[in-house]
Amino acid sequence: MDERLDLEVAVVGGGFGGLGMGVALKKAGIDSFVILEQGGDVGGVWRENTYPGCSCDIPSHLYSFSFAPYRSARTRYPGQEQILSYLRGVARDYGLREHLRVHTAVAEATYRENIARWELTTDAGQRILADILVFAVGQLHRPHIPDIPGRDGFAGAAFHSASWDHGQDLRGRDVAVIGTGSSAGQLLPEIAAVARKVTVYQRTPHWVLPKPSAEFGRISRWVLRTPGAHRLYRQALYYGADITLAPIMHRGWSARPAQWMARTHLRRRISDPRLRAALTPDYPIGSKRIVFDSRYYAALGRENVELVTDPIARISDNGIETGDGTHRHADVIVWATGFRAPEFLAPMSVRGRGGRLLHEEWSAGAEAFLGLAVPGYPSAFLIAGPNSFNPAGSNPGMKERQIAYIMECLRWRAEVEAAAIEVSGDAMRQYRQWLERAIAKTVWPSTGASWYKHHSGRVTNPWPASARTFARMLRRSPAEAFVAVPAKVPAATPLPIHYHKSTRATTTPTAF
Ligand code: NAP
Repeated sequence: MDERLDLEVAVVGGGFGGLGMGVALKKAGIDSFVILEQGGDVGGVWRENTYPGCSCDIPSHLYSFSFAPYRSARTRYPGQEQILSYLRGVARDYGLREHLRVHTAVAEATYRENIARWELTTDAGQRILADILVFAVGQLHRPHIPDIPGRDGFAGAAFHSASWDHGQDLRGRDVAVIGTGSSAGQLLPEIAAVARKVTVYQRTPHWVLPKPSAEFGRISRWVLRTPGAHRLYRQALYYGADITLAPIMHRGWSARPAQWMARTHLRRRISDPRLRAALTPDYPIGSKRIVFDSRYYAALGRENVELVTDPIARISDNGIETGDGTHRHADVIVWATGFRAPEFLAPMSVRGRGGRLLHEEWSAGAEAFLGLAVPGYPSAFLIAGPNSFNPAGSNPGMKERQIAYIMECLRWRAEVEAAAIEVSGDAMRQYRQWLERAIAKTVWPSTGASWYKHHSGRVTNPWPASARTFARMLRRSPAEAFVAVPAKVPAATPLPIHYHKSTRATTTPTAF
């Protein structure tokens, strides 16, 4: 395709992060941008994940943008369709459709030092030039399907939870579910209700906390429609999660009560002591993402559901054989085996100054200043980058903080009239020291593998402190951490002139 686009900003990804970025650009009066989306519509993981029972375990009033509140939510927790239609509504209401390029997958992004701009190449060969590049591809979108012997010889249907095959009627069939994380927890009750038999293959039990009742009463719904009450409720959820859930990750005050609650939930739902023992984790709560679900255990207790804890040895053409030699028949295999979350930005090839290749620099695990910028990659930003997943609250909120910071970066760049800006090596070093100290206090370094960790053992995905700490750190001026990067040849394209001037004080760098 011989098409070239020349823009101020290129945003990659049309989920919560990309749409939030688009709204922020519009509000700042910047119209010269595209949102490049590899799928056929906006929505990100909420478009991709359509498995039965797919919903969000964070209350909808918190799991939304602050500028586009859910005012008519019937249920406390939004379903997949509800979130997807919310995101489509945001795209429509904020005029983002005209900026959206669907079925456009970015293959390469290269910083052109002579003009201080990014050049993007799509799978279809289209070229895009932009002053600013924002990756908003999220962390949980590349399915992980383990390479178990015999996997490709299975004769039945096999699909990942995030690529559900709706053409498969599971009624009366034998279904194998591999994995027991949040996705498995949500889909199991639905498929167990229709399948002849469901065999759940568990490698490690997860800690499971129950969710409060899902439906709002009429009066609550009416009250929550008023902006003041809505705001108060959202604030209560935000602080509530931050004060009670975030300390779990550091073995703080709430870890023991949370573990006690999870054990009580298990005891109440599972009466068989052997099944209960098999479902009891032997690692501290918070080491893996906590499963918030009130239906999972009940589904495991059904007569047509079997929990298998012997490791899978191989997959045959018609079932799964475990290490003890038992073969169980399966018509369908559901891979609820999670995502390749530590492989940030893969499979894109991202080249910064001096031709450096980001995935080589990240070979022992990704890192980015505040999860959003990397030295050597001028004017490139990430939303939901390394160590910015909040395991104890709402991630749209984390993304909004990063977007506000990126907008400050753009304003500062215009203010100092820089061709490009880049986080300094010093700021990155100070941040890395702070991050390492914060991670060392969490349960993650000393516990087993999960999608929070790179295979090198480095904790690359979750944020190791409270959401309030994140907010505080992102309120600082970019002038404290970023430096101007000139173009090697004076830029041919004039700098944008319509950014608002930053009202923030320019101060000297301070340690984190
Ligand atoms: P996950 O939490 O990573 O769970 C993957 C499961 O697959 C684990 O039980 C894992 O076992 C198992 N597994 C992986 N490789 C295996 C192998 N080779 N053999 C046997 N078992 C294997 O994935 P997920 O359930 O899709 O959830 C991912 C994240 O998505 C969640 O943590 C959450 O952040 C997000 N999510 C959120 C919601 C929501 O409501 N907000 C809903 C769904 C998902 P091990 O534990 O032993 O590795």
